[in-house]
Amino acid sequence: MIDFELTPQEQATIAAAHQEAEELLRPISRYYDEHEHESPEELINTLWERSLAGGDTGGMLGLGIGAVLRIEETCWGDAGLMLCNPGSGLGGAAVLSTGTREQMGRILARFNEGKPKWGAMAMTEPGCGSDTSAITTTAVRDGDEWILNGEKIFITMGKRAIVDSDGIVVVWATVDKSAGRAGIKSFVVEAGTPGMRLEKLEKKLGIRASDTATIVFDNCRIPFDNILGSPEVRKVEEGQTPGFKGAMATFDATRPIIAAMALGVGRAALDFIRETFAEEGLPVRYGLPRHELTAVERDIMDMEANYKAAKMLMLRAVWLMSQFKPNSLEASMAKAKAGLAVTKIAQKAVELMGPLGYSRKYLLEKWMRDAKINDIFEGTGQINMLVVARRILDYSREQLK
Ligand SMILES: Cc1cc2nc3c(=O)[nH]c(=O)nc-3n(C[C@H](O)[C@H](O)[C@H](O)COP(=O)(O)OP(=O)(O)OC[C@H]3O[C@@H](n4cnc5c(N)ncnc54)[C@H](O)[C@@H]3O)c2cc1C
Repeated sequence: MIDFELTPQEQATIAAAHQEAEELLRPISRYYDEHEHESPEELINTLWERSLAGGDTGGMLGLGIGAVLRIEETCWGDAGLMLCNPGSGLGGAAVLSTGTREQMGRILARFNEGKPKWGAMAMTEPGCGSDTSAITTTAVRDGDEWILNGEKIFITMGKRAIVDSDGIVVVWATVDKSAGRAGIKSFVVEAGTPGMRLEKLEKKLGIRASDTATIVFDNCRIPFDNILGSPEVRKVEEGQTPGFKGAMATFDATRPIIAAMALGVGRAALDFIRETFAEEGLPVRYGLPRHELTAVERDIMDMEANYKAAKMLMLRAVWLMSQFKPNSLEASMAKAKAGLAVTKIAQKAVELMGPLGYSRKYLLEKWMRDAKINDIFEGTGQINMLVVARRILDYSREQLK
């Protein structure tokens, strides 16, 4: 039976996350939006101290329902600042979903001690994003080491992971180009490894508080044991899907997280619009027949329905994961729905506010900019729809692309 009921302790941590979002994030939200590449040091240190004191191993590691709802609350505060939250992040999620127990202990221990640290995940390249089979970064075995060569772009928290801290980057690379997707493996590269360098930082539309980096690997040598999952290349026959433990399994863990992030931004816009209209004497009149509602009320209710549908899908994907059940279909459904829903919710909220929605007086225009990324990273909306269609219809990649 699916059970989304929260324990009193989970409810308390979610309430605390909301308060933290309101008191720590919202007041500095505009500043870091307007000062891209400046680092919110005070916030980072506060969040790190709290996570160490609370035994939270790094923001995204406790992949239960309580954890994703906390992420939603934090993104209600500010999605870009949420990504600055020190911890193992998407890199940690990759280690958790595909690493061994030994690797989890060895690689993730750093996120429980010392100074703030970050984990990043590097898949995208100048010539490859949606189509992972086009990855050109190579990993060549040389005795007890792998040698990585290639360029990764648009890496969230890439600078903080490798320049500002002793963090990690999980890098997707091919060990056998002729094997296509089956040859793609993920590797953990630790900050300070010779041959890995930060090349540049992006200037972006939204989530400006988070850094988005280009990282180059030039004969970068890492220990053999830093490969996540098996080094063996199992060729995938036509019609088959790769095993659950492949690098792709990372997405089953990360897509629901992105859906939760999206929901936080969407709810920020929804709360704002409801409260603003109520203050102006136009509260949403729930319970009336639809034909008696104003167009604005109907719009807000449609936005709420979309938000709730996305949330149910997100919760289902996370619940399955927490039960160690396959969730690829549900993870992609949640991500596709949430990314699109919040993009539309934020845009509609700006529209309903008229010119004030476009003004920097309010954070609403920022949330519209922040919302869109959720429909792009960790698989675009179109790609997640493709995954959903393939899974439902039982089609292979070759049959439906
Ligand atoms: C702010 C930001 C942060 C990011 N963080 C990370 C990160 O931490 N790590 C990382 O590895 N990457 C990251 N990315 C990269 C992101 O994941 C990719 O941009 C995304 O996967 C799309 O890949 P692409 O850029 O190659 O676009 P393309 O694959 O070229 O897609 C371009 C357009 O074509 C559509 N399209 C492509 N193929 C199909 C198809 N078969 N059917 C229908 N439509 C299709 C796409 O949906 C999209 O609309 C980030 C990007 C941004 C903007």
